[in-house]
Amino acid sequence: MTDKKSITLFEPYAVGNLVVYVTGEDRGSVIEADCRWELTTTLTSCDCCTFRWRSRMDPTFQCRHILALREVLGK
Ligand SMILES: [Zn+2]
Repeated sequence: MTDKKSITLFEPYAVGNLVVYVTGEDRGSVIEADCRWELTTTLTSCDCCTFRWRSRMDPTFQCRHILALREVLGK
């Protein structure tokens, strides 16, 4: 049996102080709750500055937006 969560596209999911909208099976838009900045995040990449800098030094780096998306998607 599977207990996989069912995810509705374009519904907001709150993860900590982030809001995640799932826009595809491996991607979403992540919004800081106190900010209007909308990031395009996939399971392996993110628009944010933290990811862009850290991923140069550590290709496996996952920022908190990626982690939030993974949590919503159950990955
Ligand atoms: Zn990020």
